[in-house]
Amino acid sequence: MKLKDCIADFQISRYLHYMDNAATSLVPEPVIAAMNEYDRQYRANVGRGMHRLTRVATQKYQDAHDLVSNFIGGKEGTTVFTKNTTEAINMVAAGLDWQSGDRIVTTIFEHHSNLLPWLRLRQKGVELVVIRPDEAGIFDIEEFEEAITANTKLVAVSHASNVLGTVQPMREIADICKTQGAYFLVDGAQSVPHFPVDARRIGCDFLCFSGHKMLGPTGTGVLWMRDSLISPLILGGGTVEDVTTEFYSLTGGYQRFEGGTPNISGAIGLGQAVKYLENLGMDAIFRHEQELTERLLKGLPDIENITIYGPQDMKNRIGIVSFTIDRIHPHEIAYLLDERAAILVRSGDHCCIPLMKSLGLQNGTVRASFYMYNTQEEVDLLLETIEEIARIV
Ligand code: PMP
Repeated sequence: MKLKDCIADFQISRYLHYMDNAATSLVPEPVIAAMNEYDRQYRANVGRGMHRLTRVATQKYQDAHDLVSNFIGGKEGTTVFTKNTTEAINMVAAGLDWQSGDRIVTTIFEHHSNLLPWLRLRQKGVELVVIRPDEAGIFDIEEFEEAITANTKLVAVSHASNVLGTVQPMREIADICKTQGAYFLVDGAQSVPHFPVDARRIGCDFLCFSGHKMLGPTGTGVLWMRDSLISPLILGGGTVEDVTTEFYSLTGGYQRFEGGTPNISGAIGLGQAVKYLENLGMDAIFRHEQELTERLLKGLPDIENITIYGPQDMKNRIGIVSFTIDRIHPHEIAYLLDERAAILVRSGDHCCIPLMKSLGLQNGTVRASFYMYNTQEEVDLLLETIEEIARIV
């Protein structure tokens, strides 16, 4: 399918200009249809029993895992379905065996979901080191080399920033982690939906991302692991091989980490979303978003009183652009964009308060974030409407 033909599959985009994709994406009709089909035609629990419906549901649930594993080059690892990126990261924080004196290295760019779980571990005597970029917002790889010491147990970095759109050098960081024997967790919430990401090629140990940001239903996310590297957070139905009243032995595979009845229709929807993305092609999606971003970045500096945060060239960035206008609150701008032109963007701190503080921002930014259904015409409308709003003050 060609990118321009996919727009018809996203009902909301027919009457609204949806540019809040970094928060959650729209869902195409085939994903909705796949979820409905489960509920209407073969609704049953999975991994339990032998009747005809459970056999179909179990196969489709397994297929969804396989589709997602292949999508991220993670066939040889374990692909666990979670409810979102946040849950995936918390599962790693709870599932590794922490000792006092262990070090975790992260960056100031992180979403709260990739910071709070590590901050909490300070109660166990774990040291948290936060790397900061230079004035231009670029990380110096030498900073990682210095910070990742022999006692570093984990390095947790977002592949792409949900505020600035910058993409970090994952391979280089992974190499340093290997040298020092540290686990490497990649927060792929903003990368996996937008360009080809291969967990094996990066060389990470954990890759966490959200299904709902990549055309899947809400309540879906993924924790991919190189191996069964952590102990499971939740035990119960589906996680065991054998049980007595004195003892239990855990099963292998993703089942070990998915205790209880999972979000079956969500998983099937996510599998369908991955098929949809692959059909369009991740390279084509990335190129399209790059074109939209370039157009926006070209037009924004002409607007009076505007400040753009993050890189203004197209090197190592995705389709997320943050900006402010002097003397207008970001929420006011977002409200006016909706009122005047039905353009939906995010405003505020984007769950990145430490980054906002480091940028000297009290009220956060306005953030436009693109996906495959956005168009050049929408970018032009965005630019015109921002210009109008900037003239108010
Ligand atoms: N990390 C990053 C980089 C994100 O952008 C987000 C979502 N904004 C998250 C983590 C958290 O994702 P979720 O809300 O799906 O858990």
